[in-house]
Amino acid sequence: METTSAATRSLATEAVHAGREDLAALGLHAAPLDLSTTYPSHDSRAEAARLDEFAATGARPDGPPVYSRLDNPTVARFEDALARLEGTESAVAFASGMAALTATLLVRAGAGLRHVVAVRPLYGCSDHLLSSGLLGTEVTWVDPEGVAAALRPDTGLVMVETPANPTLAETDLAAVARACGEVPLLVDNTFATPVLQRPRESGARLVLHSATKYLGGHGDVLGGVVACDEESARALRQVRFATGGVLHPLAGYLLLRGLSTLPVRVRAQSATAAELARRLAADPRVTAVHYPSVGGAMVAFEPAGDPHEVIAGVRLITPAVSLGSVDTLIQHPASISHRIVPEDDRRSGGIGGKLLRMSVGLEDAEDLWADLDAALSGRRPPRPGAERRERIPEPAAL
Ligand SMILES: *Cc1c(COP(=O)(O)O)cnc(C)c1O
Repeated sequence: METTSAATRSLATEAVHAGREDLAALGLHAAPLDLSTTYPSHDSRAEAARLDEFAATGARPDGPPVYSRLDNPTVARFEDALARLEGTESAVAFASGMAALTATLLVRAGAGLRHVVAVRPLYGCSDHLLSSGLLGTEVTWVDPEGVAAALRPDTGLVMVETPANPTLAETDLAAVARACGEVPLLVDNTFATPVLQRPRESGARLVLHSATKYLGGHGDVLGGVVACDEESARALRQVRFATGGVLHPLAGYLLLRGLSTLPVRVRAQSATAAELARRLAADPRVTAVHYPSVGGAMVAFEPAGDPHEVIAGVRLITPAVSLGSVDTLIQHPASISHRIVPEDDRRSGGIGGKLLRMSVGLEDAEDLWADLDAALSGRRPPRPGAERRERIPEPAAL
């Protein structure tokens, strides 16, 4: 019988097995969910030594866990699996994508490197976190070609998102990585996922995900993660312990489960998205379609008519912010996901008032097209009760 070594396994195999290799030896099939906040120990000398070691190095503590803000075995399984999928040494999970970005910025600022060079567009709240200087950082916005010229002695990070939220603009990662020199490049890989793009292979030092999106994949878990080298991971773990933006163990469990179907979901959703992008591009009711060369399940387009009417007209497709779920979502970035970015900055990032962003799910392509077609035609009567905002009664009151 042939054996496969972990080093040569394909992504689809890793997605199902990474982070779970010890389960059979434990007599388990599903990963255990450890909800303990604390762990009893009669050996406080050994606990003290583990705490000292963590404070000194940031390495994941050996031996029994001490406290769940420091380390959790269920979350660790998700981190190990994601690191394998991204091809990085380590990964550190957080309560949300924004908590992951916050920790990354704090690590760099803590080293006295408060300046960030970033390329627009970014996810709206990432843009806001950098622009507001809330964490004491200062940002210089540039085009990808302007990265090298914008670097300063106190530059701690270069940040890009590709394909970018919401325009799906793409950046040549290898070129930007070269321009960064010694400064770490952070790539937000939420849209492509490691199924379509592994930024580490292009020279990115830090790969960020809103795990809320494709990694979870079912719209029921909030999380974030940074895949990186172990040295960066140690600093991130220390900041996570100090600031408390930890991933809940149940979220870690759900994210690990989500990873096992990530390759199948992303490939199936991408095939449908590519087909819808083709049809939209050929449709006279649509003036522009954005679909990345790397593929993926996100499509952005600009209707000739009122984009708000398209949102009001969908029935099968859910009009909601967020993305990456098994069902199709659509939203108007200028109103919702990028509302927090000032209008001029939205414009310069290519986020016009007509733009709609659609996250394509696992429904049948023909059913989705029928819904889009009707929404674009404006044929839809107002939804019954659409003007009423009454609360649906609780089941007990029915
Ligand atoms: C949603 C999103 C984030 C923020 O993640 P949360 O999990 O919502 O905090 C960051 N980057 C991108 C590209 C996103 O789509």
